[in-house]
Amino acid sequence: MKETLGTTGLILNEPLLWEKGNPGRRGFSLPRRDVDVFPVDETLAGPGPELPGLSEVDLVRHYTRLSSWNFSVDTGMYPLGSCTMKYNPKINEKLASLPGFANAHPMLPAELCQGALKLMAQLEGFLAEITGMDAVTLQPAAGAQGELTGMLLINGYHKSRGRHPSKILVPDTAHGTNPASAVLCGYRPVPVATNENGILSTESVAQAMDEDTAGIMVTNPNTLGLFEENLKKIADIVHARGGLVYGDGANMNALLGVMDVGCSGVDVLHLNLHKTFSTPHGGGGPGAGPVCVKKLLEPFLPVPRVIQENGRYGFSEDFPESIGKLHAFYGNFAVMVRAYAYILSMGAENLKKASHLAVLNANYIKERLKGFYHLAFDRPCMHECVFTDKHQGAQKIMTLDIAKRLMDYGFHPPTVYFPLVVSGAIMIEPTETESKQDLDLFIQAMKSIAQEAKEDPDLLRKAPSKSKVKRLDEAAAARKPQLAE
Ligand SMILES: *Cc1c(COP(=O)(O)O)cnc(C)c1O
Repeated sequence: MKETLGTTGLILNEPLLWEKGNPGRRGFSLPRRDVDVFPVDETLAGPGPELPGLSEVDLVRHYTRLSSWNFSVDTGMYPLGSCTMKYNPKINEKLASLPGFANAHPMLPAELCQGALKLMAQLEGFLAEITGMDAVTLQPAAGAQGELTGMLLINGYHKSRGRHPSKILVPDTAHGTNPASAVLCGYRPVPVATNENGILSTESVAQAMDEDTAGIMVTNPNTLGLFEENLKKIADIVHARGGLVYGDGANMNALLGVMDVGCSGVDVLHLNLHKTFSTPHGGGGPGAGPVCVKKLLEPFLPVPRVIQENGRYGFSEDFPESIGKLHAFYGNFAVMVRAYAYILSMGAENLKKASHLAVLNANYIKERLKGFYHLAFDRPCMHECVFTDKHQGAQKIMTLDIAKRLMDYGFHPPTVYFPLVVSGAIMIEPTETESKQDLDLFIQAMKSIAQEAKEDPDLLRKAPSKSKVKRLDEAAAARKPQLAE
């Protein structure tokens, strides 16, 4: 058995339960036995599993200690670019766990869950209003599934017109899930390079677009954190050749109340409720990737759809052109409740303010750090900014060293080596929920690291030095994974 007591401050070590167990210990007391012992016939049942003997406090400490090794947005700033790790108000969590919502069975007849249905119908309406689109499905469980839904909708649209295009344009600044979703739907993604400003140019889209192309998938703001300024003109080019425009709206945190996506030529857009609308994420829990469409794609939306008739809500499968079902029942309902509560508690003005602050915070960090780190594109950004390790190259300090060292300063590292179009990318998304004081602490940490890179680069190469687990050999971890012990 390895060390069991805390060795470094209050970072507490913890062995496996099997190593920790003591025969005879137990976590509960039963009343004294008042029947005869009846031995289990092991030849029939086989030997029982060997469980470690643990008291209640052993168990509580075990899991509580393990949980303290996690970093979360409730622990500190988590500036993971592209992921919108903002603080999610606890009130939304509380409302999602109200018994009427949390215990509602998905097979309840409509007359017994009018409230839940109304909430879904209203949330669809809110999301349509926020994006400027005409109709919404809440079914997809994640952003990537929303993308697949969008691709299926585009496919359904083309088919209904007797068209069978084989390709789809995907800019090199799209999120990685975009080409994957296109392929799942049977399309061949054709990359389109961004221009010297880090955005799409009308010329490159016009050149790549033809009648065998189903449309284009545009992440906006793109993964460089830049606004696609030519979107409307690009949409016109794509529409003129019979294609449709898919908008990846996972970065909507930059645009709430700021951009009317429906007016920009986008025909279908997915949102990430677990990024922008108050569902905690990052641990693999349930999410939701609602898809918002313009009128022309509405007939193809997944079924069942929430409908309202004579003041009563219900589900309908009566949409003959629908692409079908994408998720068991109606999607992840608790995520919808959080989004609904979040939107109502914020109100239109504050949603807009949140996006303004998200953009302001990213630009503040960008301006404060740009003398210290090389900026991939030195122009106003949206909700995130992308630096590189170029200035640290002389000391052979790389992005990974900088990210690991940030952990010693108490910050979750930003997204690194993404987007792929920027070599050694460090992608910082502070979100609107960080105060100026916290942003300043982060900026100070990044500045100190830039100084250390010059004066004591080994400190960075060995980082992190204060964490529970020190620098891992990532190549060995990938090639010879040690999955037990
Ligand atoms: C996060 C993200 C996605 C994927 O969303 P998931 O819910 O993780 O599937 C897609 N596009 C962009 C731009 C994203 O940031």
